[in-house]
Amino acid sequence: RDLRERAWRLFVDRGERGATDNHPVMSEILALRAERATLLGYETHAHWRLENTLAGTPQRAMELLEAVWTPAVGRVREEVADMQALAQREGEQISIEPWDYRYYSEKVRTERYDLDQAEVRPYLQLARLTEGMFWVAGELFGFDFQPISDVPIFHPDVSVWEVTDRNSGRHVGLFYFDPYARAGKRSGAWMNAYRSQERFDREITTIVSNNSNFVKSRPGEPVLISWDDASTLFHEFGHALHGLASNVNYPSLAGTAVARDFVEFPSQLLEHWLETPEVLERFAVHYRTGERIPDELVERIQRAATFNQGFATTEYLASALIDMRLHLAGDQQIDTRAFERDNLAELGMPSEIVMRHRSPHFQHIFGSDSYSAGYYSYLWSDVLTADAFEAFVEAGGPYDAEVARKLIQHIFSPGNTVDPAESYRLFRGRDARVEALMRKRGFGS
Ligand SMILES: [Zn+2]
Repeated sequence: RDLRERAWRLFVDRGERGATDNHPVMSEILALRAERATLLGYETHAHWRLENTLAGTPQRAMELLEAVWTPAVGRVREEVADMQALAQREGEQISIEPWDYRYYSEKVRTERYDLDQAEVRPYLQLARLTEGMFWVAGELFGFDFQPISDVPIFHPDVSVWEVTDRNSGRHVGLFYFDPYARAGKRSGAWMNAYRSQERFDREITTIVSNNSNFVKSRPGEPVLISWDDASTLFHEFGHALHGLASNVNYPSLAGTAVARDFVEFPSQLLEHWLETPEVLERFAVHYRTGERIPDELVERIQRAATFNQGFATTEYLASALIDMRLHLAGDQQIDTRAFERDNLAELGMPSEIVMRHRSPHFQHIFGSDSYSAGYYSYLWSDVLTADAFEAFVEAGGPYDAEVARKLIQHIFSPGNTVDPAESYRLFRGRDARVEALMRKRGFGS
């Protein structure tokens, strides 16, 4: 436990003191940002950064963060109580501290859900799931994917599909897929467009790509992936569909070139289709027996998904709230150490948790402007995701043709040509509500 504490302290104090003390430069960055905002005629840096977003104003973003804060902290209390009880059963005379959280939550997870990835993987073959996501694109978007080999590729691992419209036969674009890890390739998974859709001068179709870092299997054996990786596969494919469905005149407004708090919405939304019975039935099949993944196993995966959401949401929200408060503070000289401490105390930060990114190493907001006053975006996108998926559920199911049509028309195809708030209203008939997110994360039930 001493070692856990030491490692934890080193980790959360990155950039805190000594030769790598980032506080002076943070104060300077904040002062310069405030000055720039004033020169540009905005109240604060946050007001400037949020002008062209879905949230629109810092106040609306703050309202969302604060609405989720209380239930998330309430869930933390329950999680801590569970861990405390487990520690006691094991004969440990301790009270849960921040350096205990991950250790004991993993024990609770194992005890409660008994979920072993080795049990799940045999049902998740990369090739079958890739077929599965194409099938979903066919059902929702009317897209057909045909493998082609007469186009240039940059590595033999890369496969290419021509995407056409099922009804008209129209050429929609090309989909590149570069699935495997190799030396020199960036880590993680991402989508990019080699060419954006546009018709500024003439009709130009898009070329999109999904990239990931799966480990190749031995010859003759399928590549088996985890449930999280399968979700990510569908996530990145959601970005790809956002590019493929684009229907605009100007390339700078095409596909995924949308507001920061909107861009993860189409991709997060598509993750939901992995869990649909239609996909599991056909594509999540055991690589040896061909049997579909058992319902009981899927249920355990889904129940485990809301596990530890108190911790995950609270550590995230603390970072998002501090980000917004720092950039709403205006041109006062900020002592970043005192600011973080006082604001967390005022929020009622649970003592068992720290911010996901403490300010002295909060790269998102200090590494560049891009996510400054913007860390809230992840939650905002997830509110839309949860609320939008419920539109399908309310209409009778995830493949409802009318909801899918509206989704493409108002969300996937306009790029940045329509105010995203207006797009959402056109799709849903109202603004997004936060309740669906609360249900998704298992709060307030
Ligand atoms: Zn994404």
